[in-house]
Amino acid sequence: MTDRPLEGRHALITGGGTGIGAATAELLHAAGARISLLGRRLEPLCDVASAVGGTPVQCDVTDHDNITRAFEQARTANGLIDLLIVNAGIAESAPFHKMTRESWDRIIAVNLTGAFDTVQAGLPDLLQAEDARVVFIASVASLRGVPYAAHYAASKHGLLGLMRSMAAEYAKSRMTVNAICPGYVDTPMTDQSVSRVSQITGKGDDFARSAITNMNASGRLVDPTAIANLVLTVCLPLSRDINGAAITIDGGTAA
Ligand code: NDP
Repeated sequence: MTDRPLEGRHALITGGGTGIGAATAELLHAAGARISLLGRRLEPLCDVASAVGGTPVQCDVTDHDNITRAFEQARTANGLIDLLIVNAGIAESAPFHKMTRESWDRIIAVNLTGAFDTVQAGLPDLLQAEDARVVFIASVASLRGVPYAAHYAASKHGLLGLMRSMAAEYAKSRMTVNAICPGYVDTPMTDQSVSRVSQITGKGDDFARSAITNMNASGRLVDPTAIANLVLTVCLPLSRDINGAAITIDGGTAA
């Protein structure tokens, strides 16, 4: 294998300014890909883009027209999209009986409808590519229920339905469609979960961080670069027969 197996490919990453998205940008860039980074906040996107020589594009994935414009900008800078990493996501927590319709709508709009609109925007490019990839960043919450996060779990279960249906439908094309299902990862999203658990329990941040960390069977948070490494693996030419897979990376929680 060459040092730069993704040379000449264009990878578009939603939620690319922070956490798993930023780590993925670094590894795909190191493997030779041109990088476009989408998200709502320009500042973190610009920081990552300058580190990877990539293109930052402001985009809210809940806005269909905004996605269309953002993909046009990304194409102008880096050409047709070969690798689409559907990573943008949000999380909120509430006991089910207190979960509001507004919170449900927010989560579904970003995590599921946003993913649908993102893939539809990229599809014409992906179907023209030599060896295309769609990689959804799903969750272990795609595989089981999560107390206080029914909306999040429903959105992430939905992603697997979308992924598996696309993988079956396009199995004879040159595009594969897969999902990665992380346990708790050391990112800003987990920091926000720590704050919420700390507030709900009133037991402080250290207790909350330890409780969340121990949700992973390994007793440690997953390194975002480890998720990025799995994304890279799925994107390699030799992975073209990995299709329709939900790949867990959670320190053994789903075992
Ligand atoms: P981050 O909060 O760091 O990343 C989420 C990214 O999504 C941010 O860069 C954010 O940027 C972007 N985003 C959120 N809403 C929108 C929107 N409406 N439009 C465009 N971009 C948006 O956390 P992670 O890196 O952990 O999360 C990445 C993915 O991994 C998510 O899908 C998450 O559900 C999933 N995941 C995370 C786990 C964890 O433990 N952290 C575990 C399992 C899965 P901005 O706010 O600037 O728009």
